[in-house]
Amino acid sequence: MHKNSRIYVAGHRGMVGSAITRCLHNKGYHNVITRTSSELDLRNQAAVADFFAEEKPDYVFLAAAKVGGIWANNIYRADFLYDNLLIEANIIHSAYRHQVDKLLFLGSSCIYPKLAPQPLKEEYLLSGYLEPTNEPYAIAKIAGIKLCEAYRSQYGCNFISAMPTNLYGPNDNYDLQGSHVLPALIRKFHEAKIENQPFVEVWGTGSPRREFLHADDLADACVFLMETYNDEAFVNIGTGEDVTIRALAELVKETVGYEGELRWNTDKPDGTPRKLMDVSRLHQLGWQHRIELTEGIAATYQDFLRNQEAYV
Ligand code: GDP
Repeated sequence: MHKNSRIYVAGHRGMVGSAITRCLHNKGYHNVITRTSSELDLRNQAAVADFFAEEKPDYVFLAAAKVGGIWANNIYRADFLYDNLLIEANIIHSAYRHQVDKLLFLGSSCIYPKLAPQPLKEEYLLSGYLEPTNEPYAIAKIAGIKLCEAYRSQYGCNFISAMPTNLYGPNDNYDLQGSHVLPALIRKFHEAKIENQPFVEVWGTGSPRREFLHADDLADACVFLMETYNDEAFVNIGTGEDVTIRALAELVKETVGYEGELRWNTDKPDGTPRKLMDVSRLHQLGWQHRIELTEGIAATYQDFLRNQEAYV
């Protein structure tokens, strides 16, 4: 990738796409192409084809997706499957038709079977049943990986895939129903502190374990893979360390400075018991995360305080 290559970041307003765009600018790539969803509906095949014909990107980061936490994934099952399949199929096919030099597709750790051995190695894909709460999203992400593999084998396209673990950082979704756990906890503890509420409701039992990676680390890993990695096999991106939801809640509570109680609502689902990434492939390639969880949560809380009006 050259500093003046034409680089399309799909999903540049989201947490991942905005982090990739920042990272590219910081590294001196000055020809980054973006479109908002109102300018280009990625579910529209003809519109995506026209966009590629007009802009002719050399590199594509496919970070556009319909995303959400455990509740949204479970309720909007049709939307998560349909929107994501269309976004991936349209972009990947257009990238092939318009001879994009390289494309990086972003998946998710939820592609792995619910009861796969831990840590999750790349080869466990399709070795068992998926977690039901996010099965539609996972099926769409698995289809994206398979599209990249198929266009590589049939047409010789240099399309690679990366599977990030749970992410957090600037431009996250802070909607309490639709969001993931970390932004939800930041917002709940912050509001409870301001309003002097005696307790905060937290979902599930607190015993599931999750791994968290800061979006800026993810972006750095994506640019690293785009610059250096050209194989079919997809690559996990994570820290290789996880915490219980209970420990995470305590950490966010402390960061925010809330002094009340935690109340666990076990009517809400726990989801998959654990999804810790095996990151040895990524480490062997020469990349490691830099932002530790405590430091990352502190920075994310400061970002939340600065942008609260836009976020909530
Ligand atoms: P998942 O990783 O796909 O399960 O997605 P989430 O980030 O939404 O949830 C992770 C875990 O955090 C689950 O066990 C949830 O039940 C738990 N959790 C605890 N409190 C909350 C909350 O306020 N919002 C969300 N989304 N999850 C919560």
